[in-house]
Amino acid sequence: MRRLALFDIDCTLLDAHGAGGRAIRHALTETYGRWQQSDGYTYHGRTDPQIVRDLAAAGGVPPAEIEAGMEACFDTYVRCLRAEVAAGAVEVLPGVRELVTTLADDDRVVLGLLTGNVIGGAEVKLAPTGFGDRFVVAAYGSDSAHRPDLPAIALRRAEELTGRRFAGKQIVIVGDSPADITCGVHLGVKAIAVATGKHTRDELAAHAPDHLFDDLSDWRAAIAAVLA
Ligand SMILES: [Mg+2]
Repeated sequence: MRRLALFDIDCTLLDAHGAGGRAIRHALTETYGRWQQSDGYTYHGRTDPQIVRDLAAAGGVPPAEIEAGMEACFDTYVRCLRAEVAAGAVEVLPGVRELVTTLADDDRVVLGLLTGNVIGGAEVKLAPTGFGDRFVVAAYGSDSAHRPDLPAIALRRAEELTGRRFAGKQIVIVGDSPADITCGVHLGVKAIAVATGKHTRDELAAHAPDHLFDDLSDWRAAIAAVLA
């Protein structure tokens, strides 16, 4: 009963209380001098590079200029994020610490991350939790801006690490947004949705996840869903 369990970060493992958004907007201003965010634009489920490209393009920055500035933009982003996190922005969500540490100790489970965060941002957000090193594989927004690319990247890394192949419902993706539920559909993965983010239980249910939780406070039930 092997499982590759891949967790989203924001509003799944932790709530950074808007720190990522504030840091990205600061980095956009410092890098490009202009950006725009339309009403209703949401960061939820989007990768960091996608957010930078969307907001810079909406502000009139030409594509070539956006791409030329990406590295500097994310250097600034990670620096700003570090300051936000040092000020206490990160809250681990209910049940998550127990869920992560128990799964990490279960030799039937390979524990990983599947996140739109760039790697530097993910490391900064997870640092105060103390459990970031329990995730042994990961696919980040810095690997691909296109979230549906990320499951296959995590899968390949898990196979390289363990020598085992994972397929279909052995691959479990846990997240708080429709993008988390749908990103692995083409691989036939199991999706576990948790309504601790911006999306309501009904919104998530519309995307037909295999399991749906209000939150992860009943972490034993979440483990049962991973292993089911
Ligand atoms: Mg999320």
